[in-house]
Amino acid sequence: MKKILIANWKMNPVSEKEAIKLARAEDFRNAVIVPPFPFLGTIKKVLKNASLGAQNVFYEERGAYTGEISPVMLKKLGVKYIIIGHSERRALGESDIMIARKVNAAISAGCVAVLCVGEPLSVRKKGSAEVKKYIGRQLRIFKNSKSKDLIIAYEPIWAIGTGKNANPEDAAYVARYIRSIVRVPVVYGGSTNSKNAEYFLIKKEIAGLLVGGASLNGKEFRKMMEIAKRV
Ligand code: PEP
Repeated sequence: MKKILIANWKMNPVSEKEAIKLARAEDFRNAVIVPPFPFLGTIKKVLKNASLGAQNVFYEERGAYTGEISPVMLKKLGVKYIIIGHSERRALGESDIMIARKVNAAISAGCVAVLCVGEPLSVRKKGSAEVKKYIGRQLRIFKNSKSKDLIIAYEPIWAIGTGKNANPEDAAYVARYIRSIVRVPVVYGGSTNSKNAEYFLIKKEIAGLLVGGASLNGKEFRKMMEIAKRV
């Protein structure tokens, strides 16, 4: 199966001009470009090969929800993938219940939900049995799910944006565990770059990478894409 690279730009870049330049540099087949909301419409027009993603969504279709964004609106904009439950959003107060509703809403609208799970450092320090328990809890609502429109992103919180990637063996172990709960593809995220991507991508349990910081550098992302194509 072809490995996928999901470029989560987060709240970057600030200008549309820079966003267009970056999107052109990362417009590869099997890449998903996930820009900030205001650039979605423009980036959709720029992309010829990559798919478009969004960084969040609300669980209702329409109504009096100031500041929220409907999954139906995203679908109409050409969004295919929606990242849901990123640890940076959980830190802002998103609960497992809200996240489950968002996943269902995204799938009902015809998008692919990329559901993020992962443990904090305090849990990792207690060992893999505790990690499994923690992730099992995050996934309990999705038990036995096998939707073709769901991807799980295993993103240990302590590895995100820290430069401390997980050990690829540990990531593959957790990916296997996740796949014993939900029968869907699992990608890894957390401080990946062109130097370590191959160690994750060669694992058969790992379907691709969710890339944060490194996706803000077109050359770096291209190198990662070349590795993804080769493995
Ligand atoms: C992320 O935010 O999903 C992520 C994986 O970030 P980074 O690659 O910068 O660790």
